[in-house]
Amino acid sequence: MKEIILIKNGELALKGLNRRTFEDMLVKNMRRRLESVGKFKFTVAQSTIVAEPENDGVDLDEAVERIGKVFGIAGFSRAAAVEKDMDVILRSAEEYLAPQLLTVRSFKVEAKRSDKKFPLTSPEICRETGGYLLRKFPHLEVDVHNPDIVVTVEIRDSNAYIHGKQIKGAGGMPTGSAGRAALLISGGIDSPVAGYMMAKRGLELIAVHFASPPYTSERAEQKVHSLLKQVSKYSGRIALFVIPFTKTQELIKDNCPEEIFTVIMRRMMMRVAQKVAAKEHAGALITGESVGQVASQTMQAIACTDAVCEMPVFRPLIGMDKDEVVAISRKIETFDISILPYEDCCTVFTPKHPRTRPTIEYVEECEKALEVDKLVEEAAENARFVLISGY
Ligand code: ATP
Ligand code: MG
Repeated sequence: MKEIILIKNGELALKGLNRRTFEDMLVKNMRRRLESVGKFKFTVAQSTIVAEPENDGVDLDEAVERIGKVFGIAGFSRAAAVEKDMDVILRSAEEYLAPQLLTVRSFKVEAKRSDKKFPLTSPEICRETGGYLLRKFPHLEVDVHNPDIVVTVEIRDSNAYIHGKQIKGAGGMPTGSAGRAALLISGGIDSPVAGYMMAKRGLELIAVHFASPPYTSERAEQKVHSLLKQVSKYSGRIALFVIPFTKTQELIKDNCPEEIFTVIMRRMMMRVAQKVAAKEHAGALITGESVGQVASQTMQAIACTDAVCEMPVFRPLIGMDKDEVVAISRKIETFDISILPYEDCCTVFTPKHPRTRPTIEYVEECEKALEVDKLVEEAAENARFVLISGY
C-alpha cells in the first residue's frame, strides 16, 4: 500500500488573488524542505496538494515532521493511496487505519468524490465504509456529531485516498509570498521569535548580526547560527550577514555620552542593516523589540531609532509580554539555545544609567562626534556572508 501526504492549503485558499502563484510557492518551499528526505512528486488539485514519494524507503515520519513546519498549510494527513475499487478501499481502510481505530471508541466516515465517474455516490461510500469498519472493529460506534476520529475516503482522478486523523499545519502564508525582509538577530530570546512570526506572514528572511570581537566571542556567533538553523526549519534557508561592529562601538564609547550609548548604537545598527537589506532586495527590517522591556525600548528610544529608518521596521513582539514570547520560543525550540550564556554586543557596552527618554535632537547632536556615513559604509562593506539551513 502506497502512503502519501495530503496537504490542505491554509489562508491562501481564501485569497482570490493569485492563488496559483501561492500554491506554486508552497510546493517549491515543500520541495526544498523535503529535498534531503527523498524525491517527492507534488500534484495540486482543489486546494489539496498530494505529496507522493517517488522511491521506496523514504522516511515519511521525517517528511511529516518537516511539512508540519512549512507555512501556508492549514492541515495535512498521511493517507493510503489505493486503487479506485470499493473492495480494495474497504480492505485498505481496515488495514491502514487499524492502529488508529484500535485506540478510539467512536468514528464517522466522510467521503469526497471529485471523480464523478466513480460508481458509488459519497453517501454510499460513507455507508459502505462505515458498515464494514463496524463489522471489523466491533468495539467502535458511529458518532456523527463528536467522533474521536473522522475516516476520510477521497476519490480523486488517479487514486482513492484513505486517511484518519488530520495534523494541524503551521498556518500562515507561504514563505516568500510577502517579499523579503532583514531580521536583526542577537543571541537573545526575542529576535528569533520575531523572525519566526514574520516568516509566518510570508516574508522570506535574511538576517543581520552585529559582532564585536574580542568583546563578543566566536561562541556567541555560533549561537546565532544555531538559532537561525532552528528558525530556518520554518522559514526556509536564511542568508546571514555578520557585521563587524567593534570599531563603531568603541568610537561611540569614546566620543558620546554614556547615557545615550545604546540609542546611538541601535541607530547605527539600523543604518547598517538597512544598507545590507537594500543590497539584498529586502524591503523591511524586523526586530525583537517590545515596548518597555529595556531602556532602549521605550517609546522615545524607539522614536529615535525609527528616525534613521527609511524602510518599515516590523516589530511583531511590540505588545507582547515576555512570557508570551517565551511560550513561542519554546514551541519553535529556540528557547534552550537562547538561554545559553553569551555576550551580545549590546550588553558589552550597556551604560549604567541609560536615558530612557532621549530626544531626537539630543541624539543627533551627540552623533556629530562620529563619522556616521563612513562607519556605516565600512561596516556594511565588511559583512561576512553565511548561508544557514536547518536541514
Ligand atoms: P533579544 O532577546 O532579541 O536579544 P532584547 O530583549 O535583548 O532582544 P535588545 O538587546 O535591546 O533587546 O535588542 C533589541 C533588538 O535589537 C533585538 O530584538 C534585535 O532585533 C536587535 N539586536 C540586538 N542586538 C543585536 C545584534 N548583536 N545583532 C543584530 N541585532 C541585534
Ligand atoms: Mg538582546
